[in-house]
Amino acid sequence: MSPMPDTETLAAPAAAPATAVLPSACPLDCPDACSLEVRVEEGRVVKVDGSRVNPITDGYICAKVRRLPEHLYGPDRLLYPAVRRGPKGSGTFERISWDEALDLAAAKMREAHERRGGEAILPFSYGGSNGLLTQDTTDARLFRRLGASRLARTVCAAATGRAATGLYGKMPGVAFQDFPEARLIVLWGVNPSASGIHLVPILQEAQRRGARLVVVDPHRTPLAKKADLHLMVRPGGDLPLALAVIRWLFAEGRADLGFLAEHATGAEELRRRAEPWTFERAAEASGVPAEEIERFASLYADSSPAVIRAGWGFERNRNGGSAVAAVLALPAVAGKFGVRGGGHVLSNSGAWSVDRREAIGEPEPSTRVVNMNRLGETLERADPPVEVLFVYNCNPLATMPDQERVRRGLLREDLFTVVFDQVRTDTALYADLVLPATAFLEHREVSRGYGALVLYDSAPVVAPAGEARSNPEVFASLCQRLGLDRAGEPGSAAELADTFLASDRVRSELESRGYAAPDCGPAPVQFLDSFPLTPDRKVHLVPEALDRESPYGLYTWQEDPATERYPLALVSPATNRTISSTFGQLYRERVALEIHPEDAASRGIAAGDVIRVWNELGEVRTTARLSADLRPGVVLLPKGLWSHNTLSGTTANALAPDTYTDLGEGACFNDARVQVEKAVAV
Ligand code: SF4
Repeated sequence: MSPMPDTETLAAPAAAPATAVLPSACPLDCPDACSLEVRVEEGRVVKVDGSRVNPITDGYICAKVRRLPEHLYGPDRLLYPAVRRGPKGSGTFERISWDEALDLAAAKMREAHERRGGEAILPFSYGGSNGLLTQDTTDARLFRRLGASRLARTVCAAATGRAATGLYGKMPGVAFQDFPEARLIVLWGVNPSASGIHLVPILQEAQRRGARLVVVDPHRTPLAKKADLHLMVRPGGDLPLALAVIRWLFAEGRADLGFLAEHATGAEELRRRAEPWTFERAAEASGVPAEEIERFASLYADSSPAVIRAGWGFERNRNGGSAVAAVLALPAVAGKFGVRGGGHVLSNSGAWSVDRREAIGEPEPSTRVVNMNRLGETLERADPPVEVLFVYNCNPLATMPDQERVRRGLLREDLFTVVFDQVRTDTALYADLVLPATAFLEHREVSRGYGALVLYDSAPVVAPAGEARSNPEVFASLCQRLGLDRAGEPGSAAELADTFLASDRVRSELESRGYAAPDCGPAPVQFLDSFPLTPDRKVHLVPEALDRESPYGLYTWQEDPATERYPLALVSPATNRTISSTFGQLYRERVALEIHPEDAASRGIAAGDVIRVWNELGEVRTTARLSADLRPGVVLLPKGLWSHNTLSGTTANALAPDTYTDLGEGACFNDARVQVEKAVAV
C-alpha cells in the first residue's frame, strides 16, 4: 500500500478563518530569504507570493516556491508513517501509527547501539530547510547522546566556506541593495537567473546606471548574454584565471600596496605564487583567450566601486578552494574595499553569530566523522558498518556523488533506513520506515538569509497535512523513548526559538517591521563598517592553515582530469525549477543533456536523439539538446534531477566522482569527465 492517501484526508487547521493572507518567510536553501504573503482558504494554502516586508523581496518570489501549494497537497506528499512491505526500492509501504513508528525507530537504534556502538547509526541531513529550528536542535541532541557517527555536511559550500573563513573570517559581504553603486559587477560562478533571482533586477538597475557587467561561467547564462564581457572558462579553470589577474595587478603597478600593507598579510607570497601565471599560460589552462583575460584585468583595475558576486559553481572541482581564495583575494590586491558598492560577497551567513549550545544541550562527542560526499563508500565499507541510516532534510540518492554506489548501499538488506521527509523522494523509495515531516508553512521557524541580511520568526499558517510532524517534535520524542531526554531542556518550537532570539534588539525589530538585521546592519561597507573576523582583523592572503590543508599548497593548479576515453566535462548547475532536489517531484518531464553542436556533430547526434552519457562510475540515458551556449568540450545536465527525469533513472550524480576539493573535502561534481554517444531508449 502506498503511503500517500487522497488529499481529502488532509486535516484542516483548527479554528482557521475561512480566508486569510498571512505573513511568513522562506527558509529554503537560497540566498534571498524572501518575506512571504500566504493566502489560506479553508485551512489550506492556496497561494504563496512575495511580500514587501523584506525590501529585497519587493513583492515577488521565484517560480519554485510559487508552486508550494502543489508541494503541500500533491500526490507525493507523505501524510502518515509507513513501513516497507516490498523489496527495497519498490516503494511499497504499509501505514502504521506514529507510536508504532517511533517505537520501531527507537528499537532499531537501540539494537544497533548495543550490537556495534553508537557509530553504527548515521544521521544524514543537509539543507532541505535552512531554518534554525529544523536542523541542529533536538536532532543533534539525540544523535550526540547516542554517540552516533558525525556527518561532515560538505556537499556544498565546504571549499567556499574554508576559503572565505581563512582569508576574511567570513566577513559580511556587499549588500545586494548596494550593487547599483558599483561601476563594475563581476558574477563569478553564479547564475542569479536560476537561483537568488532578486539580484537580477538590481543588476539591471546597476546596468541602467552605467555599471559594466562581467560574467565568468562555462555556460552562456541569461546574464552572460547581457554582459559586457563573458569569460567562458573551462570547468575548473577559474584558478589560473584569477591568478593571472593578480599577477598582472602586481606587475603593472595596479596593486594597492597601501591597502595591502595596512590590512593584509601574505601579499608578497601571493604575488610570488601568481607569478608563473602569464595571460598566455592562464589562457591555456582556463580556455579563456589571453586578450579577454587582459581586458578583464584592465576593466577591474580601472573601475571603482567594483564588486565581485562569487557563487558556488566554481568550487565544485579539484581546484575549487584555491580558486575561491584567489577570487576573494582580488578586491584586496586591487584595493576595491572601503567604498559603498565595492568589495565582494559570497555567503553572508557569518553576519549572524548563531549559538546552538542551549538548543542542543549536549556537547559534540568525538565519534567518527563521515563525509557525506562518500555516503556510497560508507554504506558499503565502513567499519563498524552503518546499521541505521536516518535521513532528514535531504534526498541523498538525488544529491550525493557516485549515485550508483549510494543506491547499492541503500539496497543492503542489513541496513535499516529511516526517511523523514515531506514528500516521497527517490531516497524514500529505499526506506524501511517513512516518517512524514511538516513543511515550513506548517510549523514555527526561525530563519536567516545568507545573501539578504535578514532574520525572521515565522508562525505556522496552516495545520500540518495529514499526520506530518515537525523535526523538533519527532527528535524530542525519540530522545524520550530512548531515555535520553532531561528535565527542563528546551524541546518545543517556542522554547527552542527563545534560545535563538535572546537579543532585545532582534525581538524589537521582529515586532516592529517583521524582520531583524544582523549586528553589522543591513548594508555594511567592507573595511568601513565591517572588517575581517580573523584574530588580527586583517585579510590573510595565504593563510597557513589553508596552505597546509591543500594537497599541493594553496593556489597550486591541478590539471584537468579529462582522458582520451572521457574527454567531455560534465557540469550540473542549478536551474529555476528546483532548489537542489527540492520540488523535483513537481517536474516529471524528461530533461535533456545539453551538448555543443560541434560535439554533437562529431558523434552523429542530432537534437532530440536518445543518447548515452557515461564514464567508469555509471551511465545516464536521456535525449540530447544542442546548445551553442556551452563551450565545446562541455556538456550539461542540471543538478537536482530525480529518477523520473531521465530514461535510465540515473542523473548527473551517477557520473560524479566522490573525490574532494583541495579545501574542505567538498564535492567535485564538475570534475565528472564523460563520453557521449547516440543510443537507443532502454
Ligand atoms: S527560494 Fe529564494 S527566491 Fe524563492 S521564495 Fe525562497 S528565498 Fe525567495
